[in-house]
Amino acid sequence: MQQTREIIVIGAGLTGLTCARQLKKNGHDVEVLEKTGRIGGFMQTIEADGFVMEEGPSTGTIKHPEVAELFDDLADACQLEEAHKSSKCRLIWKGNQFHALPSNPVGAIFTPLFTLKDKFRILGEPWRKPGTNPNESVGALAERRLGKSFVDYAVDPFLSGVYAGDPYKLPTRLALPKLYNLEQTYGGFIRGSIALSKKQKTEREKRATKAVFSTRGGFGNLVQALGNAIGSERISLNCDGLTITPFGNKWKLTWGEEERIADEIITTCPSYELPKLLPFLSEEQTKNLDNLYYAPVIEIGVGIRDTKGTDWKAFGGLVPSKEKQQILGILMPSACFANRAPEGGANFAYFLGGARHTEYLEKSDEELTQIVNESLHRMLKFPEGTKADVIRIFRHARAIPQYMEETDTRLGTIQEVETQYPSLHIAGNIRDGIGMGDRIKQAVDVANSISKR
Ligand SMILES: Cc1cc2nc3c(=O)[nH]c(=O)nc-3n(C[C@H](O)[C@H](O)[C@H](O)COP(=O)(O)OP(=O)(O)OC[C@H]3O[C@@H](n4cnc5c(N)ncnc54)[C@H](O)[C@@H]3O)c2cc1C
Repeated sequence: MQQTREIIVIGAGLTGLTCARQLKKNGHDVEVLEKTGRIGGFMQTIEADGFVMEEGPSTGTIKHPEVAELFDDLADACQLEEAHKSSKCRLIWKGNQFHALPSNPVGAIFTPLFTLKDKFRILGEPWRKPGTNPNESVGALAERRLGKSFVDYAVDPFLSGVYAGDPYKLPTRLALPKLYNLEQTYGGFIRGSIALSKKQKTEREKRATKAVFSTRGGFGNLVQALGNAIGSERISLNCDGLTITPFGNKWKLTWGEEERIADEIITTCPSYELPKLLPFLSEEQTKNLDNLYYAPVIEIGVGIRDTKGTDWKAFGGLVPSKEKQQILGILMPSACFANRAPEGGANFAYFLGGARHTEYLEKSDEELTQIVNESLHRMLKFPEGTKADVIRIFRHARAIPQYMEETDTRLGTIQEVETQYPSLHIAGNIRDGIGMGDRIKQAVDVANSISKR
């Protein structure tokens, strides 16, 4: 009986495509409706004069078994590529150069990134009391446990890299729930990490690792593989102006001259699309669902044909806000993955803007190119006068959702709406995490829960 249900997924980004593929795998009829003329959402790869550049995500972590399992299933169509071991080296800008971020407490003693006082403070971390404020920001929590210089030179750049956000505005419980639980459950970060590393894991749980991944040839190949698995005849593009309304015990979807009737709906689009998409919700529900701010990000793909021996072997470099640079961070895809740049060349991905510098969206191509070119010698230590051979600029006005205090209200409303309308599922990065691993896990979970109904 269940197999004849018509299920429609709204949005063909990573969440929507993964969810639709899982539903199809589970034996359902599924159709995907996408607003724009292409699938993949933020996940897009371009080839620019021999350089492979990402418009959006560059790497993910295999943080859930669902990520590894998805690639198992798609193995004939696209391959997971684990990053080269150089990706373990993460750099932080301080003064006039990048320094390696220490990866353990011993390294933290010798790094020039933290003050001597905070180095002693880090040693005392296991004995510090857990906090009592459930909305304590990541910055405040890390400052209390590890010291201000740790916030400035580790937490701030990390949060810039992941959230393009402000560590003193993001509550740890909502933005980094695993970190919050380390303190609340085990009494501290070091104690918690040790306890978790000793925990027995099932074979399936062991598939979740900290390994950094991409897809061979770029994430565009994952998008294509997901699209092919669903079938192009089951994906409708250019569904702009889509609205959904209850229709007996089903749903009616309309846009332009088109119409569909469905038994189950899964939305995977950003929160700000929901008011137009679900016009039947109450004013209060609409307001609460749309209470999420997306920080802007400008991503710039930069190709250098001849590195002249300046070879970076690292995941990338992040820039603390305290250092007052124009750049949030620089990823080094050709140091981590094969065939991202022509022989002898290198490929970088620059990030600018974020929640604290929304004005960067207004900068012209010329201004952004100048910022990149100026940094090649000063920050990346290429010979003076080095200019990028290839530059591609991608402006994302609403890129990274910031899980702030309003999140509780939003999650409560999602639960309320889903209880009121059990065949409507509100997914996507409106909840459950902003990274690719979280998107894949949520998509698989939602699909499997629908299959069980
Ligand atoms: C610049 C940038 C860099 C990033 N880097 C990383 C990274 O390195 N690692 C990492 O793990 N994550 C990264 N992320 C996050 C990652 O890209 C996202 O988690 C993921 O791509 C989100 O997928 P999604 O399907 O949930 O959303 P989206 O990609 O936003 O897809 C939503 C889809 O829904 C469609 N849509 C919207 N409204 C409607 C509507 N009304 N009707 C129909 N369709 C609609 C959109 O057109 C889009 O195709 C980055 C994000 C950005 C923007």
